[in-house]
Amino acid sequence: MRVLIADEVDAECGSRLRAAGFEVDEKFDISYDSLKSIIGLYDVLIVRSRTKVTREIIEMGKNLKVIGRVGVGLDTIDVKAAEEAKIKVLNTPQMSTVAVAELVMGMMLSLARRIHIANDSMKRGLWEKKKLHGTELNGKTLGVVGFGRIGRSVAERSKAFGMNILVYDVIVDEGALARLGAERVNRVEDLLSRSDVVTVHVPLLPETYHMFGDSAFSSMKQGAFFINASRGEVVDTAALLRALKSGRIAGAALDVFEHEPPETPEEKELVSLPNVIATPHIGAQTREAQSLGAVLIAENIINAFKTL
Ligand code: NAD
Repeated sequence: MRVLIADEVDAECGSRLRAAGFEVDEKFDISYDSLKSIIGLYDVLIVRSRTKVTREIIEMGKNLKVIGRVGVGLDTIDVKAAEEAKIKVLNTPQMSTVAVAELVMGMMLSLARRIHIANDSMKRGLWEKKKLHGTELNGKTLGVVGFGRIGRSVAERSKAFGMNILVYDVIVDEGALARLGAERVNRVEDLLSRSDVVTVHVPLLPETYHMFGDSAFSSMKQGAFFINASRGEVVDTAALLRALKSGRIAGAALDVFEHEPPETPEEKELVSLPNVIATPHIGAQTREAQSLGAVLIAENIINAFKTL
């Protein structure tokens, strides 16, 4: 069985597959056109988010049996085309839970204590102690939109910071709610109007596309913070920019964007605002998450071939 790893994946993935008898090629920076021309040679394609596995790639992959996505989001893979071609699509949704949750905690603390602004000011040779008043997380309300793996992990960590947790989700894990003493709301607006920090952890679906637009931001508490480490398209960039510029919300932290890297004038302006913390989709970029993802995808693929 021939495996092509088309994005940068920890070496452990290739090692495990080779040890199990697979022939593995690693072409981490392969272009879309080159991928199209060689995909016919492979039984397995492994990708992260860079490589777009379109219907065209799937149709050219005459021998493809499995597509492995190191990560959670399947929005970069044409899953319907894969199903039609009877290709199994496997992912490793659990790999980045802790990594994203810890990034969100860092963002929340930075927003509250203005660490990004203080750091920037010091680097400009200033000592603006009097200007740099922040707020404490203790006793504040965190609104978690999407109470899945990452949302729950953020909630658990925030509980340790003394925060009250509000949850909005279409399906809720009652056990986790009870453990955290968290409160569930039935309408997202109720969460938005009561939260000092709102953090978004829903998948990108037709129902979540631009879920955060003018109406959602105008429901938020005056001066609250907004964090998005889910998918860029869940937020209407222009609406977020308006909410920040009008002072409706005090700051935002964003790991994901509608275009990655940011392309439109609104996205570029958003990133440039001093009260915005922007990171280039680094949620899963920890040594631990990447090595876990590499091991999990290799094992999933080895297991899948036992039953194929
Ligand atoms: P998950 O599937 O465990 O949780 C998602 C939750 O959202 C589920 O509980 C689901 O019921 C809920 N949900 C779905 N539709 C909803 C809706 N319309 N309204 C409210 N809730 C809804 O997923 P996860 O592993 O926690 O990942 C969450 C998000 O984080 C995904 O968008 C994923 O793509 C993103 N992610 C980002 C990074 C990064 O690098 N920044 C890394 C991993 C995952």
